[in-house]
Amino acid sequence: MRRTVIAGNWKMNMTPAQTKAFIAELAPMVAGMDKCDIVLCVPYVDIATAVEAAKGTNIKIGAENVHFAESGAYTGEISAKMLCEIGTEYVVIGHSERRQYFGETDATVNLRTKAALAAGLKVILCLGEVKDERLNGITDEVVAMQTKLDLLGVSAEEMKNVIIAYEPVWAIGTGLTATPDQADETCGVIRRTLAELYGIELAESTTIQYGGSMNDGNAAELLAKVNVDGGLIGGASLKTDKFTAIIKAANS
Ligand code: PEP
Repeated sequence: MRRTVIAGNWKMNMTPAQTKAFIAELAPMVAGMDKCDIVLCVPYVDIATAVEAAKGTNIKIGAENVHFAESGAYTGEISAKMLCEIGTEYVVIGHSERRQYFGETDATVNLRTKAALAAGLKVILCLGEVKDERLNGITDEVVAMQTKLDLLGVSAEEMKNVIIAYEPVWAIGTGLTATPDQADETCGVIRRTLAELYGIELAESTTIQYGGSMNDGNAAELLAKVNVDGGLIGGASLKTDKFTAIIKAANS
């Protein structure tokens, strides 16, 4: 009843020329793998090229962030309207690297989420605990609070366009992965929080991904868990063979 979504997050990698070549190589490899949605979230300057290259394929294109204002004096920022006009369908919001290096808070993540949804973008909302929070046994409280704060003022109708990516910060880009049970349990906490906020039916129909060093070796086990509805994938989304293997695991 809920859709599995495998999304790549390229971070600050790939030029437009590399983007074109990557999608040309990936498209035939994943053709017909339609049991999951396939998304590539790419740097702003690659989006137009990616949208063009993905035309007629089952690959959808997203951005890695968006500003919350419609326009104005925000040097260096990009609005939701700008993204929509060039064919962007998805946007990653609240990635831990944005929170860690660029001062994102739950308040700005919430503003960005509402602006993106109002413009018609599908949001991949990232949240997750840092290592100390897991070690101190407060992961559940942390992710429940982030879920509530990041979604403040988001309506049940808008939630149809929200995917949540549970990303334990200690597992991102580190080669450390949450165990399938840890991923399942914490995605379950997020689902229960959604049920509190919006009711059980909406919670059961919301896609909750796991992200954090998911790769071709561990994807099948993680995706087999009942509360894990896909993956947000950094490093392994930069190689067509590894990314395809994860998509294959989601299709088996
Ligand atoms: C990410 O960028 O969201 C991510 C999970 O990265 P990696 O797969 O490299 O850990």
